[in-house]
Amino acid sequence: MSKLYPDAYFKSIHEINPEFFTNKGINTILCDIDNTLITYEEKYPNNEIIKLFNYFSENNLSIILLSNNSKKRVSIVGDSLNLKYIYNSGKPFIKKKHILLKDVNPSKCAVIGDQLFTDILTGKINGFYTVLVPPIKDRTIKDKNGLLSCIKRLLELPILKKYFYKKMNSKEDYIYWKGKIGI
Ligand SMILES: [Mg+2]
Repeated sequence: MSKLYPDAYFKSIHEINPEFFTNKGINTILCDIDNTLITYEEKYPNNEIIKLFNYFSENNLSIILLSNNSKKRVSIVGDSLNLKYIYNSGKPFIKKKHILLKDVNPSKCAVIGDQLFTDILTGKINGFYTVLVPPIKDRTIKDKNGLLSCIKRLLELPILKKYFYKKMNSKEDYIYWKGKIGI
């Protein structure tokens, strides 16, 4: 289970400073969209997200959006942010031969996302640095596709509990995380 522990976590993507990555020699960020940048209901990123990625880019970080969502959904977000993107990415089993990924050096790459079994596992499989953020607004059992989402969260929860309690020694952060997920 500890194989799914992220290398770092932030309570929001807005808390991440570009130096956090550049100090580690990271130059490429693969960033999830749904529930990491915007909620499932939102279509466009807000100004805060636009500002954040501009700031990242100004600090020589190359951002690629990496999403399992559809071309339509991902291209709208990618074009709004003027970023490269990969839709239907197949996380956690991404295609490393993808034109946007073939020149990425795994030791200089980080992945950011809200799900252990997709985002964090992608990083673990490929040797990327991994950053977990809580979902902005998780699906509940009553929502469309909510059941699957809740099952995934149920499976994540014991891993998160061990991670926060044993590795990070932070019961408070576990409680915070648990409050953010839809179960
Ligand atoms: Mg997500």
